[in-house]
Amino acid sequence: MTSKMNIPIARTSLLENEIQSVIAPLENGWLVQGPKVEEFESKWSKFTSSENSLAVTSCTTALHLSLAALDFGPGDEAIVPAFTWISTANVVEHLGGKVIFCDIDPDTFNIDVSQIEGKITSKTKAILPVHLFGLAADMDPINDIAERHNLWVVEDAACGFGAKYFGRHVGTLGTTGCFSFHPRKALTTGEGGMVTTSDSKLADKIRCLRDHGATMSDLQRHMGAKPYLLADHPEAGYNQRMTDIQGALGSAQMDRANEIILERRNLANIYNEAFSTLEWLRTPVCYEGYEHGYQSYPCMFRPENLSLQNVKEVNQARNAWMELLQTAGISTRPATHAVHMLSYYQKKYKCEPKDYPNAYIANECSISLPLFHGMTEDEQNFVIEFVKNSF
Ligand SMILES: *Cc1c(COP(=O)(O)O)cnc(C)c1O
Repeated sequence: MTSKMNIPIARTSLLENEIQSVIAPLENGWLVQGPKVEEFESKWSKFTSSENSLAVTSCTTALHLSLAALDFGPGDEAIVPAFTWISTANVVEHLGGKVIFCDIDPDTFNIDVSQIEGKITSKTKAILPVHLFGLAADMDPINDIAERHNLWVVEDAACGFGAKYFGRHVGTLGTTGCFSFHPRKALTTGEGGMVTTSDSKLADKIRCLRDHGATMSDLQRHMGAKPYLLADHPEAGYNQRMTDIQGALGSAQMDRANEIILERRNLANIYNEAFSTLEWLRTPVCYEGYEHGYQSYPCMFRPENLSLQNVKEVNQARNAWMELLQTAGISTRPATHAVHMLSYYQKKYKCEPKDYPNAYIANECSISLPLFHGMTEDEQNFVIEFVKNSF
């Protein structure tokens, strides 16, 4: 084993046929949303068992389109976990709504279901649970609350590829599911996203909104025999279409979707086993009935008795350790950020760390270790040995 390596937090791993797949849309002239996007959508529907899949430009636009199609707007409130990628909250702002943060369960990093109901007001329209890092949020109680209060559930399944909740793929549990194909995620199209929904009317509205509000797609017009027909535009829509170049790349990777998920799970299991005796590192939990997608491998540093009192001290020790890992050639990151501490939200909503203490503590004390399909045995062993010999 080498004494120094250069192991990134994530590395894109595409097969030759997947790289070659982008040539066809360039050669046949489609480029924009066309047959390859349709093919990708259909494979996605089959894989996740969703009735409708709509490819878009990112998970952020998937979330935005979902809320826009549901007529979420000014004055409306949406409940968002305080520990997530910022765009889960940003889409609420984009539509003129109000973000109502909810703290997380420190064991799962996902929304603390027991705190949701206390956040509901007469203005609440939606809950945006996040399946963070590939672990499903506890969707049954979330859906129960939503049903009781007549709320929409827009799942942020950006990291959810391969994640299941009692046998069902995430993204098919709420009103809509929103996925990301950014290179940090397990399946990538560069930028890219997908909306899934079992509601066909909602799917039609999203299909229309992503395409300038048009009632007919380019592909439909191209196939049609009536060249004088122009689409009507009942909505002032957006351009949030995925290109066929991206669709081809996504579609090609879907042919080994199960292998990608299995490989990531195997890597995670090896880490879990290797670190099981380390009391100072809590590896990702996965309860019975859940299947983890392992978009990443988020751990908590010195998880025992973490509180607002000792968080600074643990944070400093974590940072020193992260620097040590970096020096050895092992890239790590905080798992994600506490959105209420980012200056836009801090200023606008006058948030303080203690408002959502578990999100804040996770921000300060979490650490994601490198995990990606295509990671070599040497690379993983190097990480394992270094971590085990750290303290
Ligand atoms: C990556 C991510 C997003 C954003 O996805 P994009 O495709 O980059 O817009 C949103 N939410 C979560 C939880 C994410 O991890």
